[in-house]
Amino acid sequence: MPVLVMKFGGTSVATVDKIKRAAKKVGVEVAKGYDVIVIVSAMSGETNKLVGFVNDTSPLYDAREYDAIVSSGENVTAGLMALTLQEMDVPARSWQGWQVPVQTTSAHANARIEEIPTDNINAKFGEGMKVAVVAGFQGVSPEGRITTLGRGGSDTTAVAFAAAFEAERCDIYTDVDGVYTTDPRVTDKARKLDKIAFEEMLELASLGAKVLQTRSVELAMRYKVRLRVLSSFEEQSDEAGTLVCAEEEIMESNVVAGVAFSRDEAKMTLISVADRPGIAAAIFGPLAEAGVNVDMIVQNISEEGRTDMTFSCPIDQVKHAQKAMDDAKARDDINFHDLVADTDVAKVSIVGIGMRSHAGVAAKMFATLRDEGINIKVITTSEIKTSVLVDRKYMELAVQALHDAFELEKAA
Ligand code: ADP
Ligand code: ASP
Ligand code: MG
Repeated sequence: MPVLVMKFGGTSVATVDKIKRAAKKVGVEVAKGYDVIVIVSAMSGETNKLVGFVNDTSPLYDAREYDAIVSSGENVTAGLMALTLQEMDVPARSWQGWQVPVQTTSAHANARIEEIPTDNINAKFGEGMKVAVVAGFQGVSPEGRITTLGRGGSDTTAVAFAAAFEAERCDIYTDVDGVYTTDPRVTDKARKLDKIAFEEMLELASLGAKVLQTRSVELAMRYKVRLRVLSSFEEQSDEAGTLVCAEEEIMESNVVAGVAFSRDEAKMTLISVADRPGIAAAIFGPLAEAGVNVDMIVQNISEEGRTDMTFSCPIDQVKHAQKAMDDAKARDDINFHDLVADTDVAKVSIVGIGMRSHAGVAAKMFATLRDEGINIKVITTSEIKTSVLVDRKYMELAVQALHDAFELEKAA
């Protein structure tokens, strides 16, 4: 039987009624003759609640226990989805990550899937089971402990299953009907795209567009998974939603495909560090070991052998970054006058493969922000994106102005 992977995000399984609605969509595909693997998220709000419990209990928590706690939301929805399908007379069974087993690295809270053996689930399909419901977001480490895949990780579970089972398609059901030129919550001028290239989706996701987890796009690109994003609340058709596909499948594309933003950024500045060979390694080595995902880096001009080093990282890693730097200072590996964290910043980015061949795109971005009176704090660019850090209060304004400047309301 051909296999289909269907993933339902938090809002799509937020209540028992919504689970019923989602199960009906699964039933439609079973009736077409597919063996279906359903990946579920926790009910919306549930993972945040569990993360809150962890933080209230232990601010610098043991990541193994964090994973044991925050993975539990998905266990509930997997069981409920299997029961709902059984009530509809669809033969279904649920699996937690360790039961498959979804084998991951031991990088707790941010683990990577290494392997998904298919024999357990395939054996059940062979016995007449029609739907395997798998708890997303979770796996098991080589040490046998529960791991999670980073926030939004159920998308990655879905794509990894689609690759492992050579599924015909991986459909990501969510609360929007596809991938838009920017988050439709920020401007009603946002347009749904029928298709988007893997490379563009990868950048948009990594720069904050929460609609797909970055790693899921990476996997889809590597294993050539047909990845589609569509609404769980509207009627489905074979053309619905947005297809994430190879660049070659897109006839015409805009210079800028979309605007992404992330409000979860922090800007950290080490004031007055010695400007000497090896200083960057002495700073960023310990940060990496502490699991801090450093994004933008700026080193100031040095004066009298000392300089300031600024970097950005996710806001929830500020405490870990501070501890890593204080520990390095205590070991005498680095010496700095002060570490200042600015947590009132946001990152705004424009993304498009057309930027490879068009000059002046970044300049137009800077001019647009200037015209709005928005000060740029840090800039980074790569082949197909430009990102700026701005004061968080200007984030929406910056996104709207850039969406207008690049005429994204005309995109399709
Ligand atoms: P789920 O719970 O289904 O995984 P998410 O909340 O993770 O859903 O992702 C869907 C949300 O992503 C949308 O509600 C939307 O606000 C947001 N989003 C951000 N950028 C985009 C974009 N470019 N296109 C569509 N949605 C986006
Ligand atoms: N429930 C997890 C989260 O909120 C995983 C997911 O929904 O994709 O991050
Ligand atoms: Mg999500």
